[in-house]
Amino acid sequence: MSPDALKALIRTVPDFPLPGIQFRDITTLIAHREGLTATIEHLAAAAEPVRAEAVAGIEARGFIFGAALAVRLGLGFVPIRKAGKLPVPAIGIDYALEYGTARIELDPALIHAGERLVLVDDLIATGGTALAAAQLLRQAGAAVDQALFVIDLPDLGGADALRAAGVASHAVVAFSGH
Ligand code: AMP
Repeated sequence: MSPDALKALIRTVPDFPLPGIQFRDITTLIAHREGLTATIEHLAAAAEPVRAEAVAGIEARGFIFGAALAVRLGLGFVPIRKAGKLPVPAIGIDYALEYGTARIELDPALIHAGERLVLVDDLIATGGTALAAAQLLRQAGAAVDQALFVIDLPDLGGADALRAAGVASHAVVAFSGH
């Protein structure tokens, strides 16, 4: 399936979770048999030149695409979790959201020193979440220079923010606006 056909499978929910936000809902994409497979194939095509040694995904929707991509590439999967979920000592990073702050955490024992990871999430908006995840992975000793997304909102500048931190990004589809 082409990126345009995949884009048509993504449901847009206006004013969720806040007025003015166009929520890009990937559940309609992942429930579609060919849509999910084709999305993973597009991500795999972008990931293959990177020669990553593992895939890292951000909770929660990044787990869906990241784990599927890891299986497709024959690699392991490293979860980056929301605060307070890991049963072992973790490292964490706080980052700014449009309203308030959030925290993500990682078990550093899952990272081998110098290992090249490709980072996966469903969507990049401002890039704050992915940037925090890349910083956390680097703090644990990983090399992170490529991030993959299903959806980019280019008007919010996330890819530029990642590039400034030395992380190239690729998205399967893009939506203009918020
Ligand atoms: P950001 O940190 O601004 O790049 O936001 C990215 C994170 O917020 C991702 O984990 C997305 O799942 C979520 N997100 C931000 N904006 C949207 C949106 N318009 N629709 C769906 N998810 C979004």
